[in-house]
Amino acid sequence: MQDGSEVEKVIYLDNAATTRMAQEAVEAMLPFLTELYGNPSAVYSLGSGARKAVNGARRTIAGAIGAKQEEVYFTSGGTEADNWALRSAAEACQERGKHIITTRIEHHGVLNTCAYLEKMGFEVTYLKVDGDGLVDPEELRAAVRPDTVLISVMFANNEIGTIEPIGEIGAIAREHGILFHTDAVQAFGQLPIDVDSLNIDMLSASGHKLNGPKGIGFLYVRSGLRLCPLLHGGVQERNRRAGTENVPGIVGLGAATARALRLMKKKAERETMLRDYLIGRIEREIPYCRLNGHRTKRLPGNVNFSFSFVEGESALIMLDMKGICVSSGSACTSGALDPSHVLLALGLKQEEARGSLRMTLSEENTEEELDYVVESLKEILRKLREMSPSYEAYIKTL
Ligand SMILES: *Cc1c(COP(=O)(O)O)cnc(C)c1O
Repeated sequence: MQDGSEVEKVIYLDNAATTRMAQEAVEAMLPFLTELYGNPSAVYSLGSGARKAVNGARRTIAGAIGAKQEEVYFTSGGTEADNWALRSAAEACQERGKHIITTRIEHHGVLNTCAYLEKMGFEVTYLKVDGDGLVDPEELRAAVRPDTVLISVMFANNEIGTIEPIGEIGAIAREHGILFHTDAVQAFGQLPIDVDSLNIDMLSASGHKLNGPKGIGFLYVRSGLRLCPLLHGGVQERNRRAGTENVPGIVGLGAATARALRLMKKKAERETMLRDYLIGRIEREIPYCRLNGHRTKRLPGNVNFSFSFVEGESALIMLDMKGICVSSGSACTSGALDPSHVLLALGLKQEEARGSLRMTLSEENTEEELDYVVESLKEILRKLREMSPSYEAYIKTL
């Protein structure tokens, strides 16, 4: 079928890329895709019903991070929230200074916005990370200058799962009176977050990473901070982001957030168990592999390995033929395989970075599925290594 509606049973291990929608999020959205189609700005009850639903979702989301309702602005997703946070902070603070501190392992939503701001005359310090992907708070402190106006460090990394010391970073930002933004797209709904105790001023999140719909996310902005409008037009989102609200998306995000909060502990326990089972089997049964990312300060569902002598992209394609969805540590840009900037920042060599696979689990995966994945991986890596000149050369040195 050409519309993609033919669904084959797959083993889905790419939950950091996107997730399957929770049934309760789908059900919450359905009325707003059908009979409850009113514009939230309209005064008759079909409209005010939509307005109430939007505000209900806003309340749930604010409550999830210890924020106030009016501090949550809906966006089209994580990328938009990152762009908005950085550009607005830069614009609002440029009189005070034009220096920004971020890290080398951010998502491109942050990195490419920083590159844009550099073109606009800002200076950006990209902090390095250690071999596990952790930012050193003391290095951050040393990078602070009198003209530093913004610090942006992600809560948890999407490729290697490493969870950053956000509390310590927030404390340093607060101590110096510098705005602190965190891209929490991978953490929101997975880890407990309290914006006050962590001194977070701005936070980005996205619906489709927590079993909600695609094309919806939010930016939290601490009250009292100046937030420059992203889109000019109507008065939606308190005059900051004009345009009729994505009511079904917002309602779906609210329902997904409520579900994620309710299941957070159980989900984390199960995913951590599955994660450590998969890591353990790979380390015991597959030679020449290296776990990427911190072993314990790690998102519950994240597994990332480099396998020597292979291209991750080739393994990915062969796994796909067995119905297994994973992602590799390289992206095909303009026909060439570019190794991931995150893996290079850990200090991996180009070929190690290109030989990596990311497997991100959900609580719905089973040990039986992971057993099948490990057996498939063993077979595929054996085949690829048999064809690999670098493996052949290495074996001769033994
Ligand atoms: C997925 C992701 C984003 C982008 O979110 P979208 O809603 O897809 O735009 C940003 N940051 C991180 C860490 C992500 O994992």
